[in-house]
Amino acid sequence: MEKIKKPRGTMDIIAPDTAVWQYIEKTAADVAHRFGFGEIRTPTFEELGLFHRGVGETTDVVQKEMYTFEDKEGRVFALRPEGTASVVRAVIENGKQSDPLPLRYFYNINCFRYEKPQAGRSREFYQFGAEMFGAAGAGADYSMISLADTFIKELGITGVELHINSIGCPNCRPAYREALVKYLRENEAELCDTCKARLEQNPLRVLDCKNHSCSEIAAKAPRTVDHLCDECKDHLDALKGYLDGSGIGYEIDPHIVRGLDYYTRTVFEFIVPGIGAQSTVCGGGRYDGLMEQLGGSPMPGIGFAMGITRLILAMEQCGAKIPEPAGVELYVAPMGAPAAKFASKIVSELRRLGVCADFDIMGRSLKAQMKYADKLGAKRVLIIGDSEIESGMAMLKNMQTSEQTEVALDGAAIVSLITNN
Ligand code: ATP
Ligand code: MG
Repeated sequence: MEKIKKPRGTMDIIAPDTAVWQYIEKTAADVAHRFGFGEIRTPTFEELGLFHRGVGETTDVVQKEMYTFEDKEGRVFALRPEGTASVVRAVIENGKQSDPLPLRYFYNINCFRYEKPQAGRSREFYQFGAEMFGAAGAGADYSMISLADTFIKELGITGVELHINSIGCPNCRPAYREALVKYLRENEAELCDTCKARLEQNPLRVLDCKNHSCSEIAAKAPRTVDHLCDECKDHLDALKGYLDGSGIGYEIDPHIVRGLDYYTRTVFEFIVPGIGAQSTVCGGGRYDGLMEQLGGSPMPGIGFAMGITRLILAMEQCGAKIPEPAGVELYVAPMGAPAAKFASKIVSELRRLGVCADFDIMGRSLKAQMKYADKLGAKRVLIIGDSEIESGMAMLKNMQTSEQTEVALDGAAIVSLITNN
């Protein structure tokens, strides 16, 4: 029979490889909690229109990368390509806008984008993201950046660079856009085909095109930071003040524009050079217009999302250690059928008491059981035969030191012996 393969651009993540994922998700939740964020879970699929309105018609995500499907009644849905639009929808739909401000939520989700799979870029991928609503000042921008920075460093990732930019607001962006389009028109012949199309629809996107001749043109393009209105300038200066005072290093990077239409003012990325072509581990920014765009009352927002696979690549590059998952504390090796039954009872009791314990259910010989216990990395082995059942005592062998200690065949007695040495 022909074997079925997983869809292109997806991953099977199988133990023990899941340990690093669990560690990252747990660290994310811990750090987010310390920063005052609670978890939010939203559906994996949403009405397609949510992403048209919430991500932006002119973005690559909406134009090229969406997984859409019709259900049996002809309604059109999309697998979420990102988390922000769903979070904003959920905040509005569940009346959370009237909760005490700021609202702070984080999520660990899978996302779907029809892209060309390569290292650090897949079709189903995983994000840790966080969003904050209701705080318009630069203190909120700083808090989000600080959360991302703390998390990345807590994972043991070093050499991370923070790039920030301001892309202005509806007051100052039109004039900037005009200046940019004028400049790009003068250089249109040199642009790639995609950017020629972007010129009309989403000219800011040309600035972060990876195509060589486009990036040469982008390097000399007018910069958003030189076209900010006074309010946007003050906002950026205030954020710089927070960052300077905190010791988080950063650089102003005029090429960061973010792919999504709803961003206003602050945009930022964390980059880990050297992990490959996809070195942006985190992208984020302010999106003060999004709540209204999705039918809520106007409310400022700011958020970020990080790609977990890229974080893992960065951790590997830095030699970051993850705590070893607890292994088998005790392996019980029975000899014969009555002993097997007895072993099952002891192991069940130990498991209920919180001990990671195991016993033979394969009918292996004692020799094979000892080999298997060794493969499992079991810290201790308890051999039980007829005489042990009769005396109610057995020898507990420490596999590292080979030291043997006599112990009563009773869950509590075994636990106390294990925890005391
Ligand atoms: P890129 O420029 O790399 O395509 P993006 O601007 O599309 O990124 P965002 O939508 O801001 O990315 O997503 C936030 C983060 O999610 C990215 O910085 C990246 O770490 C991760 N990410 C985005 N798309 C993918 C993907 N297809 N596979 C793996 N990770 C991804
Ligand atoms: Mg992308």
